[in-house]
Amino acid sequence: MAISIFFSANIYQVSVAEFNRDYSRQQSLISHSQLLPPSQNALNDFLEQRQVQYTEAKERILVRLIVINGFILISGGFISYYFARRTLKPIEEAHEALERFTADASHELRTPITVMQTEIEVALSDPGLTLPEAKEQLESNLEELAKLTYLSEGLLRLAQLDNNDLTRAKTSVKPLVNSVIDQVKPLADKKGIVIKHSTVADATIAAETTSISEALMIIIENAIKYSPEKSVVTISVKKDVNQVSIAVSDKGRGIKKADQAHIFERFYRTDKARTKQTTSGYGLGLSIAKNIVELHKGTISVASTINKGSTFTIYLPLA
Ligand code: ADP
Repeated sequence: MAISIFFSANIYQVSVAEFNRDYSRQQSLISHSQLLPPSQNALNDFLEQRQVQYTEAKERILVRLIVINGFILISGGFISYYFARRTLKPIEEAHEALERFTADASHELRTPITVMQTEIEVALSDPGLTLPEAKEQLESNLEELAKLTYLSEGLLRLAQLDNNDLTRAKTSVKPLVNSVIDQVKPLADKKGIVIKHSTVADATIAAETTSISEALMIIIENAIKYSPEKSVVTISVKKDVNQVSIAVSDKGRGIKKADQAHIFERFYRTDKARTKQTTSGYGLGLSIAKNIVELHKGTISVASTINKGSTFTIYLPLA
């Protein structure tokens, strides 16, 4: 606006000066005209008319400049408001996500602490507490402590991934996948689940092996966790022109469309009741996996049909 007003003032001044010069030149031309010497009255009339035209022209220029500046002010205001809102949107969303995260984290941390506190208080106030009862009490406390450890490790891992630049090295996908399968096999065996594995061709990626193994492990463990006993989990590795895909499919309970958009968010779980940890964890696994994959410039996606099964696919660029 300052620039626009500055230029408008200049335009006005230059125009007025130009009018003045023109006016005086015309006046002297007419007064000294040899061809048609004007009568004094006619000359006065003419000069009066010129004066009126001159004042009107000045006013018109002034009004026009004010209208133009007003228009610039209003439209500029709207445009600035629109862009400011657009720029602030991601910041607003990040702020909301942080608030949600803090609220969820404190809720999840408080629950086991409250349970432990109540159990200990009840036990201490019981004068007839027997040794087996006390042992049972301690076992329950240990369970709550295990939950707290699991949760704090998850939170710590997310914090590390947030501020971390991974040290990546050329890695072969085939042995990496095989080693993860070896590690999760005991978990699958417990539920009688068979892991089928197919690799079309080996591929080389730039990866921090432990992190990529961790992401893959989370997805395979979920596939086992959310599948019925004695079912099949299939892992297939495919190589494209510039990327490799690792797909993990299960025949489990599936994920609703509405939930699919959120499962990669921190603390998001499809079963909302934050009850005992039977099959579910704390909803941190997939967000850790997503962070790891994105730090490797890859993507992770899900395709799922309720009661039929889910397929999680990690795409990673070739080295
Ligand atoms: P959790 O520790 O609860 O498993 P995750 O972040 O790993 O947390 O997963 C988030 C949610 O996504 C889970 O609570 C579960 O409801 C859903 N989910 C993840 N993997 C699967 C799967 N293979 N089949 C069905 N649901 C799944």
